[in-house]
Amino acid sequence: MKAREQLSGYIALQRLLDHRTALKRERDTPPEALTTLRTQFAERHDKLEHAHKRRESLQGEQGSLQPEVEALREEREHFRKQKSQVTNMKQLSAVVSELDHVESQLKAKEDRLLAIWQELEVTDADIATLGEESHEERTLREEAEAAWDVGRKAAEAGLADVERELSNVQRELGEAGMASFKKLWASRKPNAVVPMDGTACSACHADLRPSLVQLVRTNEELQFCDHCRRLLYDPEKFKASA
Ligand SMILES: [Zn+2]
Repeated sequence: MKAREQLSGYIALQRLLDHRTALKRERDTPPEALTTLRTQFAERHDKLEHAHKRRESLQGEQGSLQPEVEALREEREHFRKQKSQVTNMKQLSAVVSELDHVESQLKAKEDRLLAIWQELEVTDADIATLGEESHEERTLREEAEAAWDVGRKAAEAGLADVERELSNVQRELGEAGMASFKKLWASRKPNAVVPMDGTACSACHADLRPSLVQLVRTNEELQFCDHCRRLLYDPEKFKASA
């Protein structure tokens, strides 16, 4: 195979590999706007779930506190009645002490019940606010998902094309041609075949010897950058096709 054909095959491989990398990134990276929408949606969902759990636990506590409060109120009535029926100081002080005890227990539980009611009110308001994704938000999110789906499928299709083209070029280069490309690629990826940038190497930016520049331009054999050992080509002679 002539050097020019080999070089042109290598350039094609490099470009296809670049294209493949770009397409893979495209396929695997949802647009930032979509990621933000997804995060917002997930956060809202988490907060909502948290609020529901909190409400459940508050309601549970409320449910067990209420009968306790009622029992204490009955006890308080009982001691109040006793207090009105005492016949001596000793009885009175015993009843008063019982009554104090019940009242302090009752107060603590009533305070807690009040706090629960207040928190339930706030939690219910949170649930109402969080609960509904507005029509606009939903539309925005669904449109972004749909657009991403289209983009991802296009990248997928592009990748299939690239793979097909890659195997065509590989076939044209043959086993020997591919073996030396792989050797070059292994140590210089992801850019093993690079255009000159004026009279410099576009990869390592080293200035090239004038005689080397000349050789790259005539391209009768493969030429490598003295500095980074990448395969060089003249971009004027190998224009990237769209
Ligand atoms: Zn170089």
